[in-house]
Amino acid sequence: SIPLSFYGGIGGASRNGILIKGGNYLETLAATGTVVFDKTGTLTTGTFRVTEILPADGFTADQLLTWAASAESSSTHPLARSILEAFGQPVDRTKVTGIMETAGRGVAANVNGVPVLAGNTKLLAGAGIAVPAEMPVGTVIHIAAAGRYAGSIRFADTLKPHAKDAVTALRRNGVRSITMLTGDTDAAAGRIAAELGLTSYRAGLLPQDKVAGLEAIIAENTGTGSVIYVGDGINDAPVLSRADVGIAMGSLGSDAAIEAADVVLMDDDPAKVATAIQISRKTYWIVR
Ligand code: ADP
Ligand code: MG
Repeated sequence: SIPLSFYGGIGGASRNGILIKGGNYLETLAATGTVVFDKTGTLTTGTFRVTEILPADGFTADQLLTWAASAESSSTHPLARSILEAFGQPVDRTKVTGIMETAGRGVAANVNGVPVLAGNTKLLAGAGIAVPAEMPVGTVIHIAAAGRYAGSIRFADTLKPHAKDAVTALRRNGVRSITMLTGDTDAAAGRIAAELGLTSYRAGLLPQDKVAGLEAIIAENTGTGSVIYVGDGINDAPVLSRADVGIAMGSLGSDAAIEAADVVLMDDDPAKVATAIQISRKTYWIVR
């Protein structure tokens, strides 16, 4: 027979806004040794703010913003939404054709007859356009127009209010290794990892590299308990499935992530990961 406390554990969790899809995940959660977080939308709010527009010689900030907003006009990526907000006016969609978005890289489109790229260095490199070397500061996308480098747009990433608590609570619960996987730049990831006191991080990952990143972490932490992945995006679904327990954000999270996850945090609060572990341990302590 199934001990009543299984239901108690799942019920207790659901009263805390934590949806657990099966009693077996409680056992795995109770043995958590490593927690791996996605960055954007999981530790950060998923809303970026444009802080700087830096045109290259021969280009203007207005041109850059118009090109970027036009190319991003049908994207739901957080960076796209912040560019559209900074643009502050509706995009004339009749002037934008051939929009093509590549996950983990950015967008290409034809704006007023000009071929435009808006994305990271990998996107521009794919078109043979070099990005000038410079001191990276944080989250940045680069713009190219008609095959030339046209400049960059910088963003500030905002930590969720409980991001620091999430890490502190995990450490207090004996989780040794707390790490982060992200497609963002090394500089943006490093700043957040230092601010939160993460054990380590892996940056610049393409969506398809995230599973390999998680597998490397699993290999490094063999014999030290379960490996939990916490994410929110469409790109996170394969990683959520690969982890011992996949935890998705309930309201910010994509349908694919919620579907692939074993546990869903209804209020998107990363500190609830520690709550879930506490509840699972209490449940197992009672069962034994
Ligand atoms: P994360 O792992 O932080 O959730 P993503 O995989 O969504 O990040 O994106 C990784 C990187 O790919 C972004 O930081 C950005 O450089 C680039 N990128 C992805 N989509 C877009 C887009 N629509 N416009 C511009 N850049 C993009
Ligand atoms: Mg994300």
